[in-house]
Formats: sequence, structure tokens, C-alpha cells
Amino acid sequence: MWSCKREKQWEGQEPVKTVNTETVPIQLQFRGIFDLGDGVYMSNQFEGARLNGVVRNNDTLVTVLITPENSPINMSPWYAFKLWSESPRTLYLKLTYPENAGHRYLPKLSFDGMSWREIDSASFQTTKMILEEKEVVKDLTMKLSLGKDTLWVSAQELITNTHVEQWIRELESYSYVERTSIGNSHEGRPIPLLKIGESDDQRMIMVISRQHPPEVPGFLAMQAFVETLCAPTELAEAFRSKYNTYVVPLANPDGVFHGHWRHNRGGVDLNRDWQEFNQPETSAIGDFMKQKTKGDKGKFYFGVDFHSTFEDIYYTIDPDLKGNMPGLVPELIEATAQELPGYMPNVKPNSSEEARITSTSFLFYEMGAEALTYEIGDGTPRDFIRRKGEVTATKLMELLIR
Ligand SMILES: [Zn+2]
Repeated sequence: MWSCKREKQWEGQEPVKTVNTETVPIQLQFRGIFDLGDGVYMSNQFEGARLNGVVRNNDTLVTVLITPENSPINMSPWYAFKLWSESPRTLYLKLTYPENAGHRYLPKLSFDGMSWREIDSASFQTTKMILEEKEVVKDLTMKLSLGKDTLWVSAQELITNTHVEQWIRELESYSYVERTSIGNSHEGRPIPLLKIGESDDQRMIMVISRQHPPEVPGFLAMQAFVETLCAPTELAEAFRSKYNTYVVPLANPDGVFHGHWRHNRGGVDLNRDWQEFNQPETSAIGDFMKQKTKGDKGKFYFGVDFHSTFEDIYYTIDPDLKGNMPGLVPELIEATAQELPGYMPNVKPNSSEEARITSTSFLFYEMGAEALTYEIGDGTPRDFIRRKGEVTATKLMELLIR
């Protein structure tokens, strides 16, 4: 039999289901420094940390418990903590989760919280289990060499509120980038809003990121995308004179601060709240966009929300449906792919029957913006993420000003 050379592409996640998005209580973690004896310490006293319990089983084994902010919740356990030892030693550290949750993210290690490397495959072991008829990783035990230098262990590179703030400050040095706040989170954190461009708001673009706190790869793509729109190039300059781009780089600042698996401080998956708008984060963004388009004010021509999942995938709107610039999204994906040799985009149009509760359904069905959920794989090489983000922005600008 002839075999088809093309690998079968991932089919993506199941269609979204409507859920109640009213605020519920969440469990806050105790933050502090944990003295494990013999001069061994762990800490979750920093932004983005998650470490819910720790036990030193014996000389060499430490078991860590990672629990979610509330449940039910998607299985994307975020963890981040620091550890050190007064004298050099080897420790085995076991990451465990509640009964019905498995492990997802491969540990990243750092000595400064800035540069990260993935743990090497010889340094950890996993146990498997069957969950909802699928084999998943139950727990992971890693071998760590400890010393006085603080070792950071995290599910993904740590990009927290402070990092986002620093990035915004760099962008603000451009005269055509302006920062305000679109509203406040549950805990009163300002949700930053960037305006890029010198146009009259007749033609606008919307960019959203980090509704889901652990989705750092999506954030990295968003950064590359936005930096390209801000660059002092001829193309970007022409684009900025015609279109203003509005960016919400950190839609869930409380969730990122608390090291949440997925939800906001109200215990809600924000990307299921774009119809009910029960949460302050979603309603701030929704109100802003409605305000900008009221009456015969401007239009949003394109809207993109950056996320991460198991593999790169684009969730699009049914291509037969027409928004403010029909055909833009398929053309953008096609043009991007042509610039990236060997890259075969995985595109999954959402059915128009699907519940309209996500950001992209709001962007398209309520705002008319050609909309895209831009998903990056958890383990997609970081240099490729950057390149893809840059190319996407370049192609988008070319298509929009042609
Ligand atoms: Zn997501």
C-alpha cells in the first residue's frame, strides 16, 4: 500500500462548552519559604509562583503538591518555585497533582529567573495513568543538583506582571506607542492597554494575550508580532498611518500573579465569558471595543487572541462567513506559511453553530473583525515562535495596506 507522506495533523480541542462564568471562590496558596531541614529550602515567594505543599520524604526525595485555584479546570497544571541547599547535594523532586489531574509542562530550569533551559531527558522520569480513556503523565520526578545558588524550576519561562511591565516600557519609547489601562482586574490590578499607531481610529486591529496564565508560548508569539508592528520600518510606518492597533498583552494579571492554572481571580475561564461578561477583565475589553465602534465610529478589521496548547494550530471562523474584510484570515495564514519553509499550518475553522463565548467569537460576531485564535504549541522551539510572530505581522500589514 502506498503511504501518504504527510503526517496526520492534530485535530485540535473539542468545541467549547457553555459554562457558568459567575465569580466563585478560589484557593489562594500560602506563600513563604519552606525549611526542609539539613539546609534545604524551597520558596514560592515571588510573582507567578505556584507550590501548594511540600514534604521531604527522606534524605534524597522531596514531594511537591501542585493544586489548581478551583475546579473543574482544564488540565494544565502550572508550577514555579525556587530551591537551594546550603551544601552541595543531589535531590529527587517529585511533582504531584490532585487525583484527577496529570502533569503537562516539561520543567524549565534557571539560575537567574531570566535565561531558561529545558530539563534534559536523562534527568527525569514519569509515571503514567489512564484519565478519561487517555494515557497521561501522572507525576514527574526530576534529579536536581543543588547548591547555594538558587535554582528556579518552572512550567514555562517565567513571564509575569513585572516582565510585561518592563516590555511595555521599552515599547513606550516609540512616540507612536501609548500606554493606558483598559480597566482593572478583580484584585484591582490595572489591565494594560497599548495603542500603536497615528491613525484616526477609523481602522483598528485588536490583539489579546494571556487570558490563560500559563500560556507563555502564545505570549512570546504576541511579543514578536507586536514588536514588528512597532518597528521603525517603512512597511510598519505606512501601516501605522492607516491603522491603529490596540493590544491587551496581559488580560489576566491576577491569574499570572498568583500562578494560576487557567482562571482569573474570580475562578473563571475568561475565554468562556465573552457573551455573559461576568468578569471585570472580559467586560473591560468588551466595553472598550464597543465604545470604539459605536455609531459610525471606526471598525475593527482584524482581531487576534494568542494562546498555547499541545501543538501549533489556528482556530478560525467559518471561512464562508464574512466580516469587515472577507478572506483576510485564510490569506494571512497562507502568506505566512509561504515564508516559513517546511511549515504546514494546521487550521481548524470553528463551526458557526459553536457557542459564542470566546474572545474570537466576540471579535467576529459582535465586532465584525476577521478573527483568529493563534495557538502555539507548549514545546514549539522559541526561535520559530519568534520568526512566525514576525512573519505574521509583516504579512498582515502587507495585506491590510495593499
Ligand atoms: Zn488558552
